[in-house]
Amino acid sequence: MHLAREAIELLGQMARILWFEGAKHGLRDREWMALRFLSRANRFSRTPSALASYVGTTRGTASFVIGELERLGYIERKRSATDKRSVLLSVTQQGKKFLVRDPISVLLEPIAILDDDAKTRFRDTLRHVLDQADAAEQRHHTDVCKRCIFLREDRTTDSKTAAEFSCRLFRAPIAEAEVDLLCTSFEHHRQ
Ligand code: SF4
Repeated sequence: MHLAREAIELLGQMARILWFEGAKHGLRDREWMALRFLSRANRFSRTPSALASYVGTTRGTASFVIGELERLGYIERKRSATDKRSVLLSVTQQGKKFLVRDPISVLLEPIAILDDDAKTRFRDTLRHVLDQADAAEQRHHTDVCKRCIFLREDRTTDSKTAAEFSCRLFRAPIAEAEVDLLCTSFEHHRQ
């Protein structure tokens, strides 16, 4: 238990890099979190309500964050092609360039220089902790589509043909490039 407690204390100190007072490069911590999320989210999650759920805030606060990022030219909103009442948020080229200043780079860089096995173990350990914590609280967190219980692989006739995917929740096709993107409707396999 001592080692577990020590690990959590370290995580708490890392969290201070994510959550800070004031602004860094002109954005508050929630605005950075929103911009970072929108650059990694799939098409079902680039909406104001999914953003509010990911950031853990009200729709009103999320609207304020969206308005601020839009005013700065980092994101844009478009009507959804499938549902004209829905809005789809996208990071602009200017927003993508701005993301190189993300304050979390100081955490990303030391992790990036680990060898692949160490990076995988680190990621899987954090995921295991989150999965277990979610199960205990009966919640589910945001994660990548490829791990979701609703993802179905629709392999076509022969094994050489590239796999195609679909989502059983949204009843929609998923491109191979989308399986590594984040989704707020993600649900992991229960053990
Ligand atoms: S399969 Fe899961 S993660 Fe992927 S789009 Fe559907 S609900 Fe979201």
